[in-house]
Amino acid sequence: MSVERLTELIRARQPCVVLTGAGVSTESGIPDFRSPTGIWAQVDAMEVASIDAFLADPETVWEFYGRRLDVLAEAQPNDGHRALAELEERGWVQAVVTQNIDRLHERAGSREVVEVHGSIRTASCLDCREVVPFDEVVRLLPVPRCPRCGRILKPDVVMFGELLDEATIARAAELAAGAGLLLVVGSSLEVYPVAALPAETLAAGGSLAIVNRDETQYDARASVRIRAGAGETLRALAAALR
Ligand code: NAD
Ligand code: ZN
Repeated sequence: MSVERLTELIRARQPCVVLTGAGVSTESGIPDFRSPTGIWAQVDAMEVASIDAFLADPETVWEFYGRRLDVLAEAQPNDGHRALAELEERGWVQAVVTQNIDRLHERAGSREVVEVHGSIRTASCLDCREVVPFDEVVRLLPVPRCPRCGRILKPDVVMFGELLDEATIARAAELAAGAGLLLVVGSSLEVYPVAALPAETLAAGGSLAIVNRDETQYDARASVRIRAGAGETLRALAAALR
């Protein structure tokens, strides 16, 4: 299926809400999670990205997370992020709901960004609640400690075993239910509760479009599926709507 069909759909089915995952950032040099070259092919998520692992052994979690922060600090927004910012600017996209913690949507110029898994913007102290911004966290690596009380900081990203921020996921669900079109880009749609958002759109009578290299559980229910790169696809979509 084609970008032309997606262009028709976005025209016909406003408002359009975009749901992104790690696949929108791979072209910025950030590996995704579940692909053969993804992060979970190399390390066990439960050992480096779960709240239990963090509480038991925060040094090991920071060893993994610190290396990710180095990659994320260098990464630049790509054509996909830029196209979504342009589509919002032109009124075609209402908001971006993202599972990514990399801030690349914001840096590309998207304004309405709902970060359902948190972001690298800050890390916090679980004891005294001190909040430390990204640049300082990077300076405090390899094992950033609270400047006030000395406890090892926790990245403000949602780890496995943690609940999502209630207001944030409620806002995402509200956007999904109100969407004429939910455009999913670069997500395996395997991690809940985000993976339930397309069902909310469909249940409320909205349509679904999916731009993803691999299959997802929602493919059969999507009006358009494009199995190609996010950058080239979104660039072509933005060009078609200019
Ligand atoms: P994913 O790796 O599961 O899926 C990415 C998808 O993008 C894949 O299906 C792949 O085929 C596709 N893809 C890759 N590059 C592409 C490209 N250039 N163009 C088009 N498609 C491309 O990532 P996900 O869906 O974001 O879900 C995983 C989520 O789990 C993450 O977002 C993460 O927030 C979350 N999570 C992470 C942690 C953690 O690291 N601490 C903890 C809990 C949850
Ligand atoms: Zn503290």
